[in-house]
Amino acid sequence: MATITVDPRVSGNTAEFVSGRHLLYIDGQFVQAASGKTFPVYNPATGEVIAQVPEADEEDVHRAVLAARRAFDDGAWVRMAPAARTKLMSRLADLIEEHNDELAEIESLDNGKPFAIARVNDVPKTAAMFRYMAGWATKLTGTTLPLSAGPDFHAYTMREPIGVVAQIIPWNLPLLMAAWKLAPALACGCTVVLKPAEQTPLSALRLAQLIDEAGFPPGVVNILTGFGETAGAALAKHELVDKIAFTGSTEVGKLIVKAAAGNLKKVTLELGGKSPAIVFPDALMDKAIPGTASAIFANQGQNCSAGSRLYVHVKVFDQVVEGVGKIADKIKLAPGLDPACQMGPLVSDAQQRRVVGYIESGIQEGAKVTAGGPVSGIERGYFVRPTVLTHTNPGMKVVREEIFGPVVCAVPFSDDDIDRIVQRANDTIFGLAASVWTQNLSVAHKVARGIRAGTVWVNCHNVFDPALPFGGYKQSGWGREMGEEVLHHYTEVKAVTIAL
Ligand code: ADP
Ligand code: MG
Repeated sequence: MATITVDPRVSGNTAEFVSGRHLLYIDGQFVQAASGKTFPVYNPATGEVIAQVPEADEEDVHRAVLAARRAFDDGAWVRMAPAARTKLMSRLADLIEEHNDELAEIESLDNGKPFAIARVNDVPKTAAMFRYMAGWATKLTGTTLPLSAGPDFHAYTMREPIGVVAQIIPWNLPLLMAAWKLAPALACGCTVVLKPAEQTPLSALRLAQLIDEAGFPPGVVNILTGFGETAGAALAKHELVDKIAFTGSTEVGKLIVKAAAGNLKKVTLELGGKSPAIVFPDALMDKAIPGTASAIFANQGQNCSAGSRLYVHVKVFDQVVEGVGKIADKIKLAPGLDPACQMGPLVSDAQQRRVVGYIESGIQEGAKVTAGGPVSGIERGYFVRPTVLTHTNPGMKVVREEIFGPVVCAVPFSDDDIDRIVQRANDTIFGLAASVWTQNLSVAHKVARGIRAGTVWVNCHNVFDPALPFGGYKQSGWGREMGEEVLHHYTEVKAVTIAL
């Protein structure tokens, strides 16, 4: 085992947790992987190993699924008064709030993101998600239905939990993505096996301890750390899993769909994006420039909804590109726990190579770098400078593919025909999100209507709320997360008809 070094800036609790012994959470017990194997977790700011976590494989997946199956089938969880589920979930939200800064430190160490942002964004939003969904537990209603057959029947529908749910999440917002998945499933009365990404397993392991402390019955939530190709794939094909909810790459989303076909488990997918931010010449520049910069640079650009194609009317193109470039140049890159940090490293060396590779491919294909570029100039850690590319064309890889890093392609448009600009914005296999920047109400509504994506923001970008459904058209996914909408994906509808 490599020596473990934890950043000296973190609190004693965090250092103790991170460097301590990590275990899987199965059936209400903290246990080793059946194989006894572990794998290393890295601090992306330094490349150093900060923890060893259990490597779950098919056998652990099987044990966790059986535990979730028992917890569902024995009926106690499903029959628990909805208000009692609300109370448990609210208690978990309280615990998350009590441990706010500790969770933010873990998230920063593991993912690289600025601690200052994790503590005011990622962790509070995680608690808010559990609280919002806790409220839904008591509001899962059906309807009464007048039948065409006439008054001799009394018919109604009811919503029942879908069963055992496998949830596989990504590394960009590890704790928040766990909440997006767990909260609606628990509100609906499902039982869960959750697998965090192998790059960022630590906050989910701390969450497992808080779930245990909150008092959820054994087997209702099981948390496994392991690799996608082994543990993830075993979950996706397991015959006793009723539904799989996945967030990650479009490529793996397609593998999940194939694996799920064996027992026709229900599937929801939240996948990639290549979201346009469209700036009209009448936009308020003091909002549009910082807004579109943050649309792409927030979270080191590692957002599925990042505004990675910046379409700007020629009249204001130079002004916007220069403004976004200036912001990019000023962003302070540093380890996430450095108080000066405005942008942390990317999550891994692989991700850094991938993003730098895209910048280089853009340059090779003729794009110009107006800010940032492929060289970070920082010796240690997986940093990539926020980068602005111009002189791209619609066929380039940087314009077509999701980069998942702080790289934006700025493209001028001279069209005053809204339909044509909408057409260009829609010229992508993805359909996750878009933003439009204008003061003209009619333009805003026309663009909002024309965009083929699950989310459209007007004069803002990356605004998320537990009440807002989020998900993709086209190859950005199936189904929605959050809001009332997500409840449909964790429940089955039963129609009951009574002959009177
Ligand atoms: P990235 O390539 O950016 O890491 P992925 O889509 O591969 O994104 O990862 C998202 C999540 O999917 C992670 O939890 C990962 O472990 C999991 N995963 C990766 N490959 C598979 C697979 N073949 N089956 C199931 N899960 C997978
Ligand atoms: Mg992958």
